Amino acid sequence: MAGMEQQAQSTDTSNAHENAPAIAIRKLQKTYAGSKGEPGKQALKGVSFDVPQGGVFGLLGPNGAGKSTLINILAGLVSKTGGEAEIWGFDIDSQRRNASRSIGIVPQEIVFDPFFTPYEVLENQAGFYGIPKADRRSEELLEAVRLADKRDAYARTLSGGMKRRLLIAKAMVHSPPILVLDEPTAGVDVELRKQLWELVMQLNAQGVTIVLTTHYLEEAEELCDRIAIIGNGELIANKPTQELIGMAREKIVRVSVDKELAGPVMEEGFLKAETIDARTLEITYNRDVMSAGQVLAVIQSHGYTVEDVTTREADLEDVFVSLTGSGA
Ligand code: ADP
Repeated sequence: MAGMEQQAQSTDTSNAHENAPAIAIRKLQKTYAGSKGEPGKQALKGVSFDVPQGGVFGLLGPNGAGKSTLINILAGLVSKTGGEAEIWGFDIDSQRRNASRSIGIVPQEIVFDPFFTPYEVLENQAGFYGIPKADRRSEELLEAVRLADKRDAYARTLSGGMKRRLLIAKAMVHSPPILVLDEPTAGVDVELRKQLWELVMQLNAQGVTIVLTTHYLEEAEELCDRIAIIGNGELIANKPTQELIGMAREKIVRVSVDKELAGPVMEEGFLKAETIDARTLEITYNRDVMSAGQVLAVIQSHGYTVEDVTTREADLEDVFVSLTGSGA
């Protein structure tokens, strides 16, 4: 990946403001025009956040939350209706050219002309950015995404995984310091997902700031050091991943007892109590308010002997569901 490292560092778009965030978004709004008297759709309702330099930033949210709208505004494909955004310190309106040169976007959809080869795809893209032949790094990029042996194959003969890797190489042609991946592993198998994660982590290790949208919580938890959650066009959370996971205050303990339950054991301090079967209870409690030991003591005080206990640790899914009110 040495080629990419040099590329990332030799970019001519040095940050417009030293120490500026990689991406700064301020009160960003988008209302899509309605058709024939229908009201417009407010996809972004004034979203503000920063993407710090150097990390892997996850943009998470249920379908229709506004993730693609936000990415498309940064990419220059959708025009905002309010607010501001800077990429690498460059305003996306008044300094569009520099802003565009500072970001590489890996789209969700795989679209290649089937009769171009991977080498040609990269060369064409370099031509699009006006990169002189001598400064092009198509070979190195193919090497980096492990497609060197497919250099001259028609794109239509590549596997899905190879096409996705080629898309990443294509987004890196102009050596942007920021790489945005829109749902990079949607619909790919476990093996390929791991490969793509590895590639993303390698690029990050070489200094490229990564932004990815995903609805796979596991992916966000694994890759991202910081996560913003958007729902219904609004920013719901923006925190370091570990802190976000720590926000799940609810814990669940499942308890089997020695005899048939007369009913759910409900106590002050329990958020929820359910009977799972004749002898099994599930209690949801706030870990700030009580401990698992106290939950068991309550059950015993009702005359039951506890035979088996399992607890479930909170994860990103719990936080996500409680913040957005929906499953991922
Ligand atoms: P996400 O990527 O999080 O699934 P989107 O940004 O695609 O969300 O969509 C946000 C909202 O904007 C949705 O309600 C969607 O239906 C609407 N929307 C997206 N694109 C358009 C468009 N071109 N015209 C009208 N409404 C749109």
